Formats: sequence, structure tokens, C-alpha cells
Amino acid sequence: MGRTIEEFASAHQLPLRWVELRNTCRQLAGRVDFWYRADLRDAVRPPAVEASDILHSSLKRRGLPAPGGMLQASPQKPDEASRGNYESADPPQTGPGKAKKLSLTRAHDAYMRRAIGLARVALANGDTPVGSLVIHKGKIIAEGFEAVHMQVDVSGHAELIAIRNACSALQSFDLSGCTLCTTAEPCFMCSYAVRQTRISKVIIGRPTPWVGGISSLHPILTEAQIPGWGQPPDIVSGVLEAECCALVSQANPGFTVGTAWRK
Ligand SMILES: [Zn+2]
Repeated sequence: MGRTIEEFASAHQLPLRWVELRNTCRQLAGRVDFWYRADLRDAVRPPAVEASDILHSSLKRRGLPAPGGMLQASPQKPDEASRGNYESADPPQTGPGKAKKLSLTRAHDAYMRRAIGLARVALANGDTPVGSLVIHKGKIIAEGFEAVHMQVDVSGHAELIAIRNACSALQSFDLSGCTLCTTAEPCFMCSYAVRQTRISKVIIGRPTPWVGGISSLHPILTEAQIPGWGQPPDIVSGVLEAECCALVSQANPGFTVGTAWRK
């Protein structure tokens, strides 16, 4: 207890490279934290663009496909996939019902593909592959990927990080009118944050076993009777569910996510 990392490594005869790697990881974690907490407050440049740039370079270094690239590879509508430009993916408020529904589905898919890209970053970091983003007026204003292990922070869930960044970007605890898109059903902790910030809509990829805010025995994400919480958000579940489940199986070979949603 109380020893430095160098002393610990020396006592356990760990190679110097191990120490260097650990120090580098700590520095990177600090830089990512700075990006999330400080750069998103920069009012000069759109925060989503700033976040995307750093995410792109991070993915490039790791040899992973960038979210923009994944979206561009989508056969649906390439112009929707342009990084940082999701306005075209937003559904029109009026128009024929069928066309509106199709446009809505495409928008949900586009947002979820972005969230899956973030989840892949978490996976590469050794965390549970969950990615989340918050959309406000058709623009992504905040993003987050799971960072529990990377930051040694039990509250480092992707949804919570995205919500925290969205509050910072809007300088408000009130996220009414915002949409949270996340690859996994928000857990109790994240569902609490959704309700407290009054997020209006939640787009979900896959269920979360046992501790999900909808499918568990304590569905606080959809509970309408809690005083002061107002109406629960609209829920769109099962968006690109197979891809989101596949991420979990990739992280935990042999483990599959149940798909029984609570009605
Ligand atoms: Zn959570």
C-alpha cells in the first residue's frame, strides 16, 4: 500500500515496459477525460465535430474503422453518413405516414451505427462494448463510450458520460427534447440520469440482463408513477439489435444476450 507504480513493478520484477505502458494509459485516460469535460464546453466550435475528430484519430491509430467510414459503407443512404451531419437523417415532421416511418427508421439506424462505432472503442479499451450519444435538434451534441475499466470508475457507463457531456454542452440539467441513443438498454444508474434530465426519447440496441431500466424487475426508465419525474421517455428498442448483441459476444466469447424484452 502506498507504493509507487515503479516500486510495485520492481518488487514484482515486472519489466520496465509494463510501467511505461501503465503510465501511458493513465496519460491517455487523462487526455480523454479532458476532451470530454473541457473541449465539449468550447462554444466556438460545434462539440460533436471536435469529439469526432479525436475519435477518428483514436480509431485510426488503433487500425479500426471510423464510425464515419462504417456509416458510409451503409447501403442505405451515403449522404446521411457524413460525419457530423445527421440533419439529413432527421425525419420530416409532416408527410405521408409510410415515408415518415421509413425516414425515422433510417435516422435511428444512422444514430445507432454511430453508437456502435463508439462501442467498438470501448471494446478496444477492454471495456464492455457500449456506446451512447445525445441528439438535440437533429445534431449530435454529446458522445460517450464505456470507460469503467479504462478510468477505474464504476460510474463510467457510456450513457452517463454522454448525458454528462450533453448537460455540459447545453449548460443545463434539463435535456427535454433530447434523444439518447445507446447500444445497450440503460442500467438502473443510467436510467436514473435519463429520468432526472428528462430526456424525451431513448433509442436502444440490445437488452441488458438483470439490471436494465426496462426489462428488469425495476423498470425505472419507463415507470410513470414516480413523483416529480414526469412522463417517461419514448422508447425505441431493438435498433440494430443483432449487431449490438454481436459486440457483447465478441467481448465475452460464448456469452449471448437474451432478447426477451419486458412488455
Ligand atoms: Zn449504465
